Amino acid sequence: MLYALKMHKSSQQSLGPNEQASSALPERRIVLKFGSRLLTGDRAELDPERMASVARAVAAEPKTEAVIVSSGAIAAGFKTLGHASPPKRIQDRQAAAAVGQGRLMSLWDDAFRAVGLKVAQVLLTNDCLTDRRRYVAASRALSTLLEAGVVPIVNENDTVSVDEIVVGDNDNLAAATATLVDADVLALLTDVPGVMTGDPTGDPASQVIPEAASADELRQYCFQKKSIESKGGMITKLEAAERAGQFGIPTMIASGLDEDVLAAIVRGERAGTVISAAERPLGARRHWMAMQMNLTGALVVDDGAVAAIRQRASLLPRGVVRVEGRFRRGDLISVIDSQGVEHARGIVRFDDRDVERIRGLHTREVKEALGAGHGHVVMRPDRMVLVGEEGEG
Ligand code: GLU
Repeated sequence: MLYALKMHKSSQQSLGPNEQASSALPERRIVLKFGSRLLTGDRAELDPERMASVARAVAAEPKTEAVIVSSGAIAAGFKTLGHASPPKRIQDRQAAAAVGQGRLMSLWDDAFRAVGLKVAQVLLTNDCLTDRRRYVAASRALSTLLEAGVVPIVNENDTVSVDEIVVGDNDNLAAATATLVDADVLALLTDVPGVMTGDPTGDPASQVIPEAASADELRQYCFQKKSIESKGGMITKLEAAERAGQFGIPTMIASGLDEDVLAAIVRGERAGTVISAAERPLGARRHWMAMQMNLTGALVVDDGAVAAIRQRASLLPRGVVRVEGRFRRGDLISVIDSQGVEHARGIVRFDDRDVERIRGLHTREVKEALGAGHGHVVMRPDRMVLVGEEGEG
């Protein structure tokens, strides 16, 4: 085993005197993400043979619990609706996803049935991740499926995913899924063998970068290949790796075209580019904060405030330059600099209108402006998570 594994409860259980160690006792939990382009190849429709090779690789290692995150709903549905190519209009994409999701599941069902495994459809939206109760419910449901030996096939619920509840790309959805099931590794499978030193389409001498301490180190190697049916590219993969890493989950970016590579990953071996996880992952609450997307509000702060919060000091009204969006006391909002770069997010202690009244003020002026009993801290370090850095416990 070449990457550090967290032990799962099931593998830590001690056996009673008369019990035999079952060969199927799970040793690891992995999330395997397949993009539309990978599942369709050049044919622009789902390729059952590709899916069969995934199923064979998963079935070959019963000690691994696998969750598949599968794109391809739109790719599988657009032709039925009379489109010559994947549509761009949002409602056409939603309609295509509604048609294609059933087809996608039916093909996964065939592929896994052929190797004696059952599958389950799990459709998530961003509010399954932002709403703590839904998050816990989704997490329990997924674990129950895995414990029952079923392979969950996860996709975004594209047909109803609009605006604030959209995750938007399946790389980030896969990272969220990895945290939902507390996976040992997130494998983002693609049509290149890993993160390459040069553009694989134009530079034959380019090589796979075998490992990186963080996703950030690899950003310079993003050579974006765009296609309409899939949202992801190397940039979203690195974003997803960063997200998973904050929760202590390493990411592999590897080829999904090669069944041997897939089988190796399922056996717990490394392949492609391995991106290490934070050594000190975020605790549960901070992790939940880091996972959220599409926050409704933000505070624009000055450089002094950025430096202070990076040193784990409180965010004070003095450093707040502008208030963006709407929020209530207790909401999770972003802290950004004047360039729009997010540095932190956390639970705000005032409504937007009150922050507007006290921004730029010194502590004693805050008390005068709001009256006693209000406190003067906008965001406390223990209710804040820094963005773009290793976890902080
Ligand atoms: N959920 C979309 C689909 O199944 C794909 C999103 C993505 O490519 O990241 O078609």
